[in-house]
Amino acid sequence: MYTGLVITSANGDVGIGESIKVLKNGGTALDAIVTGIRAVESNLSDHSVGRGGLPNLLGQVELDASVMDGQTLNAGAVAGLKNFEHPISIARKVMEELPHVMLVDRGAAKFAKEMGFHPRNLLTAAAKKKWVEGLDERGEGLKGMDKYLENLRKYSSNLPTARHLGTVNFIARDRKGNIASGVSTSGLGWKYPGRVGDSPIIGAGNFADNRYGSAACTGRGELSMRACTARSVVLYLQSGMTLMDAGQKAMEDLKDYQDSFGTYMNIVCMDKDGETAAFSFAESTTYNVQNEEMDRYEEIPRKKINI
Ligand code: ASP
Repeated sequence: MYTGLVITSANGDVGIGESIKVLKNGGTALDAIVTGIRAVESNLSDHSVGRGGLPNLLGQVELDASVMDGQTLNAGAVAGLKNFEHPISIARKVMEELPHVMLVDRGAAKFAKEMGFHPRNLLTAAAKKKWVEGLDERGEGLKGMDKYLENLRKYSSNLPTARHLGTVNFIARDRKGNIASGVSTSGLGWKYPGRVGDSPIIGAGNFADNRYGSAACTGRGELSMRACTARSVVLYLQSGMTLMDAGQKAMEDLKDYQDSFGTYMNIVCMDKDGETAAFSFAESTTYNVQNEEMDRYEEIPRKKINI
């Protein structure tokens, strides 16, 4: 029997304890990641995930999330979902109830209602304040739709570290050795309405396969979507690389992907044996690790990859 293990991006600290509790009670890796991520989605001080997340350019909170079950290789996702606090649970329902992998926007909301989820306002006063301040910084405010690209470029060039972005990653391995991964986000703040990032895209921001391991990303989703970063890590594991080499190689691959909006990426990963590692292009970033025997998670530095 394996010892239950959970890793998360730094902002997963608020949910990792609950996630471990699920594993201690004999729950599945899938239950563990969903439970942990739900806690982060309800954390109002996290402006990158769930309720309290930063809205798009029009002031609407649009959420993206995905889950992958490493045992069955089944997956579910929602994108551009408005007015539901727990996209991770709806992504799970897509996986379990539908012959589909992803639902977007109105279809996702319709399905959520049918599954018994209750709509609610996700835009908190604090997130709205940040959004308004951000529009001012961008000069033209809402009238500046035609200047969106110019403004976004200015904004992107002012992002010194990955700390300005956000999304939550959870990867768990349960007592049976099954691995599951989940990612949830409100995406890039002030994004163009309808913009979907890597978090709900299986293979880009999220991937899990019991036989090799799992990886999940935060950072500039447009890069991991182009390079299929989470899947790359797992394929490199499949080809026989160590976890450290697989993660490093997937990060280094991104250097070839030219992007005038910037190269920020962070990966957390776990191999089938429960080894963990995490990587970032930014200085001084961390991830969290906790197993069933630990009372509290440990915050561990990510390996910095030089660009
Ligand atoms: N990867 C997320 C996205 O592109 C954002 C983030 O991690 O900060 O939507």
